[in-house]
Amino acid sequence: FLACRRLPKVELHAHLNGSVRPQTIRKILEERSRAGEALPVTEQQLQDITACGDRSLADCFRLFDLIHVITTTHSAIARIAAEVVRDFAEDRVVYLELRTTPKARPEYDMTKQSYIEAVLEGIELGLRQLPAAADATAAANAANADEAPPAPAPADIIAVKLLLSIDRREDSAAALETVQLAARYKARGVVGVDLSGNPYVGSWGQWREALAAARAAGLGVTLHAGEVYSPAETARMLEFRPDRLGHCCYLDDSLAAELRASVAIPLELCLTSNVLTQSVTSYPEHHFAEMYAAGHPVVLCTDDSGVFGTTLSKEYAIAAAAFKLPLGALWELARRSVEFVFGGEEEKRRLRGLMDRERPLML
Ligand code: IMP
Repeated sequence: FLACRRLPKVELHAHLNGSVRPQTIRKILEERSRAGEALPVTEQQLQDITACGDRSLADCFRLFDLIHVITTTHSAIARIAAEVVRDFAEDRVVYLELRTTPKARPEYDMTKQSYIEAVLEGIELGLRQLPAAADATAAANAANADEAPPAPAPADIIAVKLLLSIDRREDSAAALETVQLAARYKARGVVGVDLSGNPYVGSWGQWREALAAARAAGLGVTLHAGEVYSPAETARMLEFRPDRLGHCCYLDDSLAAELRASVAIPLELCLTSNVLTQSVTSYPEHHFAEMYAAGHPVVLCTDDSGVFGTTLSKEYAIAAAAFKLPLGALWELARRSVEFVFGGEEEKRRLRGLMDRERPLML
């Protein structure tokens, strides 16, 4: 596990409100209670949210709705984003693509755009608060500032990009609005669009046009696919040829063959999430094994580190144990993940250099 923590890692599938620390949920509620607000959840619901563990996929979506009635304000969103950045950096994630669904909440003066601004502010705050960056800034401000070592730029510790999610509950106009915002915020680090949310809700035709617009705007597109058995929809998603796919737990033989024969669409695989939600029976039976053995590109990811009580290091350690992967194979897995980031060629070159420089220290 320690080796997994030291390994520089790339996280490509992490939902902001699923990565919130359970204690932060409690703190936000305490603050709201002190401010005289009626609490939006019962103590039982709060315990459900903060108890990481086994829960069905349907229960997870009920839980997300509860988290959303707690993390309602711009300041709550910014705070969570800052903490998530620090948590991933602490786990030695050197490149994070965080995803979140922009939400309009007129009662809190929140538009999708102001939501995105709050997330970006939170990310910037989290980067400024990174311990190494803060230490170096303090050293640089010290009396003999000339002799202080140069402050490592936060991006040398962790680079953070943002994906905007379309929730499957959204209609085509709402999906298009999110894509237009993603295109507008490219210069601020939005690199792609994701389709996620309750897989029992909505249908592919609702979002296809918006997703095509995202592609036309030069944004990366990733889709949650095959989280439940839905072969017709999964087939249409494969036909669309997204840049990446999430989960793909339920592929029948013909879809699995099509995926393997495809232009190798990389898979974002979330071991703990899939096992805890019982989408997959056990770690050794996870489709990671089959895809990895077939040489299909796979990336280990956390999905919802707060809700499932995991970290990316834990996911690597689970993979090591379940699929008998030596440290060298874990290294290769992390190194190959760089090829699938949406952050562009320059970012890939930087990350390849960073990973390769550290290889001799790791192996
Ligand atoms: P948010 O987008 O930052 O609010 O993060 C929580 C949201 O991510 C949920 O409401 C879902 O829409 C989505 N999400 C998180 N985990 C999953 C998953 O495993 N499958 C599909 N959607 C998910």
